Amino acid sequence: MPTGQFAFQEAPTQNPQKYSETTRSKGQKCDGLAIAFFQDSVKLARERNIRQLELERKLQEPNQSPARRAQLWQSAGKKEGKYLRFLRTKDKPENYQTIKIIGKGAFGEVKLVQKKSDGQVFAMKSLIKTEMFKKEQLAHVRAERDILAESDSPWVVKLFTTFQDANFLYMLMEFLPGGDLMTMLIQYEIFSEDITRFYIAEIILAIEYVHKLNFIHRDIKPDNILLDRYGHVKLTDFGLSTGFQKKHDNAYYQKLLGKKSNQPRDRNSIAFDQINLTVSNRTQINDWRRSRRMMAYSTVGTPDYIAPEIFTGQGYHHECDWWSLGTIMYECLVGWPPFCAEDSHDTYRKIVNWRQTLYFPRDLDPPLGAEAEHFIRRQVFLLSLVCNSEARLGRGGAHELKNHVFFRGVDFDTLRQIRAPFEPQLKSAIDVQYFPTNEIDQTENATLLKQAQASAKQIAETPEMSLPFIGYTFKRFDSFS
Ligand code: ADP
Ligand code: MG
Repeated sequence: MPTGQFAFQEAPTQNPQKYSETTRSKGQKCDGLAIAFFQDSVKLARERNIRQLELERKLQEPNQSPARRAQLWQSAGKKEGKYLRFLRTKDKPENYQTIKIIGKGAFGEVKLVQKKSDGQVFAMKSLIKTEMFKKEQLAHVRAERDILAESDSPWVVKLFTTFQDANFLYMLMEFLPGGDLMTMLIQYEIFSEDITRFYIAEIILAIEYVHKLNFIHRDIKPDNILLDRYGHVKLTDFGLSTGFQKKHDNAYYQKLLGKKSNQPRDRNSIAFDQINLTVSNRTQINDWRRSRRMMAYSTVGTPDYIAPEIFTGQGYHHECDWWSLGTIMYECLVGWPPFCAEDSHDTYRKIVNWRQTLYFPRDLDPPLGAEAEHFIRRQVFLLSLVCNSEARLGRGGAHELKNHVFFRGVDFDTLRQIRAPFEPQLKSAIDVQYFPTNEIDQTENATLLKQAQASAKQIAETPEMSLPFIGYTFKRFDSFS
């Protein structure tokens, strides 16, 4: 320990009472900012070192002319310089021109935008800070940013950068012009077995990738499955995804399960209206389909694809995503999801009682193939998707699904290279024909912004409001190259 003139002064005894609540929370904010700053700096330096090592390895490769080496070195340097400049600039929504609102999210909107300086096209998702704060979505927002920042795969929508201002968080992503699977299902109602096989096989690979990152998506549903310009699948909306094993409080779902339905119905009764949902009763299905998009835009979202173990509170693991896949496959083949009901509380009850309520209509034309049905519904001694989590296919890994007879002959390794059954026909880089833009209110969330600003007056500027969003900002290395 240093002595003499270098001796440390003794730290003053801490006296928390001495400081006001505001001072303490400001201190906390500074703490958070400092931690985020150093964590980010270390991460950036590490990544830069890795890039340098990679470049040096390349430069040492034999058969490279000195001119080629000089060129490699120069272009890498330029790229690093560009990235450093990008890190120094503060992005803001005014840098982007809105073309169209293409999706309404639970906490904001998704817009097709064009960068004013260079005309690059992006999808921009904006989330209202106060809404997320009020509805306890903070962990979810963070999870979404983290997984998208971490991932680098053709199966997951690419996130270029995130930034924020007093009211909103912004995520700048690649724009996927093919629209989402929900819009496609609304349009086509059912898919043939071959087309279903293609989409389900691609979604399997996408989910497998997410699980390999040690995340559970938890919200696999048609509106979160997007199609790129070639018609191939990409997953988005990781707002509910969590790290493995993390217990989630299921109080939210319990509340919903306990709530009384709009229609008086004996809660213990499991005699649901499954018989009404046959092909011959199209009006009811069309009612459901009409409300489907509205459900997608609401804060609660549709519960149709959620695995029962998520809201019965027995704990859940990655296999909950495979259940969701099973319900999507059912919808592709049958025309509606297996537990759909007019009222979402009834859907919850149907899902929990899936043993009694899972029902395959027998009057489908063409009839459902036995292999497809076996994949979805459990047969004695066989694993399937829509069943209790212990018996669920995929519990031991995605290969269990890939090896199912339903996928006989499918080459999973080359799937993304083959021609997709539906290829978007685009007229330009800003073509939004695959999005229901005429059904979406195009008044650029002016009212939401006003509401947000009204309530933001009370909380936006306080450290409590900014604390949760510290470290949200992210900038991908190859964003603008
Ligand atoms: P929420 O969390 O509110 O459900 P999402 O991220 O799922 O928000 O986006 C809502 C909708 O916006 C999607 O269903 C999709 O139609 C559209 N969308 C989202 N991201 C993109 C994107 N990168 N490219 C094209 N459309 C997108
Ligand atoms: Mg979504």
